[in-house]
Amino acid sequence: MILPPNVKMTPMLSQYVEWKKKYPDCLLFFRMGDFYEMFFEDAQKASEILDIALTSRDPSKSIPMAGVPFHAVDNYLGKLVKAGYKVAICEQVSVPDGKSLVDRRVIRIVTPGTYVPEEAGEEGRLASINLLNDDTIALAMLSVNTGCLEAGVLKKEEALSLITGFNPGEVLIPDTIKREDLPVELQNFFILQRTKEQFTPDGAARWLCKIFNVPALSVFGLEEGAFDTGCAGAVLHYLEETQFGAIQHVTRIYPLREKHFLHLDVASQQNLELVSGDGPTLYSVLNKCKNPMGRRLLREWILRPLLDQDAINKRQNGVEFLVQDPVVRQKLQNLLGECRDIERASSRLSLGTGNPRDLAAIRDTLLLIPLVYGYCKSSPLEKFISSDNSLETLSTLLASALCDEVPRHLHNGDVIRTGFNSELDSWRELREHGDQWLDQYLEKEKAKTDIPKLKVGSNKIFGYYLEISKGNLDKVPENYIRKQTLVSAERFITPELKEFEEKMAASEQEIASLESKIYADLVQHTLEHVQKIQDGAAMLSCIDVLASLAQVAWERNYIRPQINNGLNLKIEGGRHPVIEATFLDLPFVPNDIVLDGDEERIALITGPNMAGKSTYLRMAALLVIMAQMGAFIPAAEASMGLMDRVFTRIGARDELSRGNSTFMVEMIETANILHNVTDRSIVVLDEIGRGTSTYDGMSIAWAVLEYLDHGCGSKPKVLFATHYHELVALEDHLNGLKNLSMAVHEGERGISFLYKVVDGPADRSYGIEVARLAGIPPAVLKRAFHLLETFERADEVKPSGGVMETSQQIQLFPVSSQAIIEELAAIDPNKMTPFRALEMMYKITDQC
Ligand code: ADP
Repeated sequence: MILPPNVKMTPMLSQYVEWKKKYPDCLLFFRMGDFYEMFFEDAQKASEILDIALTSRDPSKSIPMAGVPFHAVDNYLGKLVKAGYKVAICEQVSVPDGKSLVDRRVIRIVTPGTYVPEEAGEEGRLASINLLNDDTIALAMLSVNTGCLEAGVLKKEEALSLITGFNPGEVLIPDTIKREDLPVELQNFFILQRTKEQFTPDGAARWLCKIFNVPALSVFGLEEGAFDTGCAGAVLHYLEETQFGAIQHVTRIYPLREKHFLHLDVASQQNLELVSGDGPTLYSVLNKCKNPMGRRLLREWILRPLLDQDAINKRQNGVEFLVQDPVVRQKLQNLLGECRDIERASSRLSLGTGNPRDLAAIRDTLLLIPLVYGYCKSSPLEKFISSDNSLETLSTLLASALCDEVPRHLHNGDVIRTGFNSELDSWRELREHGDQWLDQYLEKEKAKTDIPKLKVGSNKIFGYYLEISKGNLDKVPENYIRKQTLVSAERFITPELKEFEEKMAASEQEIASLESKIYADLVQHTLEHVQKIQDGAAMLSCIDVLASLAQVAWERNYIRPQINNGLNLKIEGGRHPVIEATFLDLPFVPNDIVLDGDEERIALITGPNMAGKSTYLRMAALLVIMAQMGAFIPAAEASMGLMDRVFTRIGARDELSRGNSTFMVEMIETANILHNVTDRSIVVLDEIGRGTSTYDGMSIAWAVLEYLDHGCGSKPKVLFATHYHELVALEDHLNGLKNLSMAVHEGERGISFLYKVVDGPADRSYGIEVARLAGIPPAVLKRAFHLLETFERADEVKPSGGVMETSQQIQLFPVSSQAIIEELAAIDPNKMTPFRALEMMYKITDQC
């Protein structure tokens, strides 16, 4: 840290500088009374980010200073960590006596991944990874919010999709890995290098066993010596280091196994707008959860659909029960609405950032758990509850110890209920008697002095006083000591008042210190039960999600899909859950999806733009995801074999910032799909090849379909929408492909969309009719029709059908001037380097 010249160092500033030197990579929040102050560069940075005033400590203005009030610190911390800063909280640890320098100590470090705000949010997520080889990643994910720690060694794709879904605030990596070498999906996260020793499986395993008090990590199902142990160690170590040991709420490790969940690649999570997007998402439609714990879990269920038929059935049974019994559902939801976020409250208490309200949240919710149990007993919901009721003692204790309404800050008092601790009660009585004493004293003095308007008051400077108006000053007795003169009155103290004041101060202090001791004991006692509280929270969140899914199913007429081990997908009358719920004035037109495991497993969908192709494709992917997360789905009837992967290539996401053109992104995503499909995958491809010239695009689309039909060694189910009308010829040549199209009504006044999927290809592309619908001027439309006719006559080059052999490709699409024109039309000269332009020129000259 570089100090500006001519700074006059006071003992307090020297103390600040000492602490700042120990935490150079953090902003130092230095507690001074009711504020956290920052000095020098920290003050400058913070004032910019937080938009707070920058002042200065000394008259020469050489010490910039900025501060935030301690009671609003949460909000400011949130802004700083979002901007990627770490904050070291330096607290006062001795009582100020007005004479010597107050002791201060850094008690925790708040970082983007460890910050858990008071209000529920997405924060508090840490991940750590180790790249084992090109194909395999060891990872650990720690939700600081809830104390859930997961670890596993997974295939790269699977690991990346889990991490992206988890959306960590920080990702820790060993210092042997360079940031640049990380997969592109991780580049946007805050990356933090830690020593490679922290990632060593053996060392980490020894430490973790000690922390969790277990003989071996195999009790959690982790493999001896595997690299995920190293990641789990690294991530928990970081939490321990930043929170100064406060990690009691992390009580175990959950193993992440390969193929445990339906794999949703990163692109699909975004393309399908599952949990985040510009508009409504699947999450927003399914979310009728009544508390934050349920909302968190619902998000997780959407991103991690199951692969285990029994587990899916268990959830479906729960949903079905709650659909069929709306009364029980309503009662449960009312209770769940009263439940507070006890996962988060217990985490905050463990991290040392909790307050009396967190404790009260646990009290209130523990009292409700037996009632929730009551409704779940002897029903399919019983499978989601554990019968261990030993939290009753804790809940009784908290109920008897805490006041009904507690303040946010302990120092505001009235946290502990009267009747819980006799010592506290007697001090409180003394304090209350104090008020009586004061009343009596005032009456006595009024009588003695014969001043009926004698008043008693108190202030911070000289404590309790008697106030006498100017007109009565001649009646002031001798033992009154004058302390202050006001415009119309004077204030006096008396020996009796002084004595009373000392007693009061002592009782206030005793009350405060007793309350804080009892509170600390209660927190400690509560944290001893943290694992059971987390179990209770898990039960409440499961029931909340099931009730939410049931409510949506009931309101929107969803059905229970039959899940089996076969390879067929059959949905009758399917609807798109998000479009149906949010966008339409008219009813959604239901459509069937029938994909066979063997024949007819590739559906090629043609039809004009805006006819509903994308919607149909997305619907298929969403319904599979919903079914495997255990939800009911918007359809008339459905049965489906378990899928292990959903792949999508839809639309153009904005990847230009990463230096990839739209077409490049499209091809990267397609390549990923082609490499990874299995018999149980569902692949959704929308307008493949659109980002390049017609002939390039069509050739790629054609070859991709061939590959998925018989080249990839698996038999995935595929939905392929295209505007390349030529591709419909493939039906005659590919075994697994069938043509579908979007029905269009051609009336006198042009076309209209029916949104109905029908067998067979579209007659033609209707591009110009759609242009008419969009309001293109008639003159342009007329000219377009004319040109179309000319092109169609001139274009003798049509794919001859049949399976494209490599040697035939050139003949299928011989070069024509039209191709060159199209290639040129696809160029954006502004985005071309001179070299690329020259290259292009050579290519065109070669073709001529
Ligand atoms: P395409 O992919 O063919 O260009 P989209 O799938 O984007 O068409 O659909 C365009 C619009 O048509 C959607 O935004 C939606 O409003 C409406 N739509 C699509 N499918 C249906 C349907 N089955 N029922 C009602 N409206 C639909």
